[in-house]
Amino acid sequence: MSSSRFFTLKEARLSNNCPECYSNDSLELTFKQNLTESKFHKAITNETACELRCLNCEVQIFPIMWTDDIDRVVDYHKRGLKTKPKSTKLKPITWGILVFVIVVLIATILFATGIISI
Ligand SMILES: [Zn+2]
Repeated sequence: MSSSRFFTLKEARLSNNCPECYSNDSLELTFKQNLTESKFHKAITNETACELRCLNCEVQIFPIMWTDDIDRVVDYHKRGLKTKPKSTKLKPITWGILVFVIVVLIATILFATGIISI
């Protein structure tokens, strides 16, 4: 069982005109980065997504509707984007299992080699 979701990296207000309602101060660009999570680990991936919404007409502006100007501004923001480095973190339960396995392994080796005996 694992889940995948996006968390917000950066939000920017664009001064371009909305292709839907032509309002010029209501476009909001959001950059998101992907995070996967399971019971045993949490990982940040390199996958990013961006979304453009108009706060005035409350619709999502899909890339197919972007004007050249919007494309340029989005590109500009993309270049300045600081993504979080890819990383994987194990959850405490995973560390617990690992430590348990290692202890059992060491005990087994010590018994097998006769270093300790009951
Ligand atoms: Zn609009």
